[in-house]
Amino acid sequence: MYSRKKVLEEIPEEMTAVWSCTSEGCNGWMRDNFAFETVPTCGLCHKPMESGMKMLPLLVNTNRDQKTLRKGVSIG
Ligand SMILES: [Zn+2]
Repeated sequence: MYSRKKVLEEIPEEMTAVWSCTSEGCNGWMRDNFAFETVPTCGLCHKPMESGMKMLPLLVNTNRDQKTLRKGVSIG
């Protein structure tokens, strides 16, 4: 079994915009990043979802992307 604890310690969490399922008893949610212009429906129970906030590990793009961003500052 891989250590989940280690991952939690290494990845900082921050309040993240998410869509949460409005159905009671359903834990369905998705990051706002993946949402569409219209209100998404829950993938579990197909009820409409509402926007909210949730403590989530920071979404870290690949290291290569971060380097690209830093290099990208120099345009000219
Ligand atoms: Zn649901």
